[in-house]
Amino acid sequence: MLPGVIGVMMATEAIKYIIGIGEPLIGRLILYEALGMKYREVKIYRDESCPICGENPTITQLIDDYDAAAENPEIFAPAAD
Ligand SMILES: [Zn+2]
Repeated sequence: MLPGVIGVMMATEAIKYIIGIGEPLIGRLILYEALGMKYREVKIYRDESCPICGENPTITQLIDDYDAAAENPEIFAPAAD
C-alpha cells in the first residue's frame, strides 16, 4: 500500500510539471509517516557546489556504461571538495 501512496504522489507531481499547473514540489520535500498518518514538509536548499545542479556542474549526462564508470570514477563521479 505504501508504494502506491508515494507512487500516486510522484505521478501527480510529474503530471503537474508536464502540463504546467499547480504548485510543483520543487525545493521542498514531503515526509510521509504512514503509521501515524502524518505528513511533514521541509525546504530543500540548492547546494551551489552540487556536481549536477551547482554553479560549475561536472556531471552533465547520464551514465550508460557502468563498467567504464567503475573503472574511471574520477571522470564520472568527481569527489566533492
Ligand atoms: Zn544538485
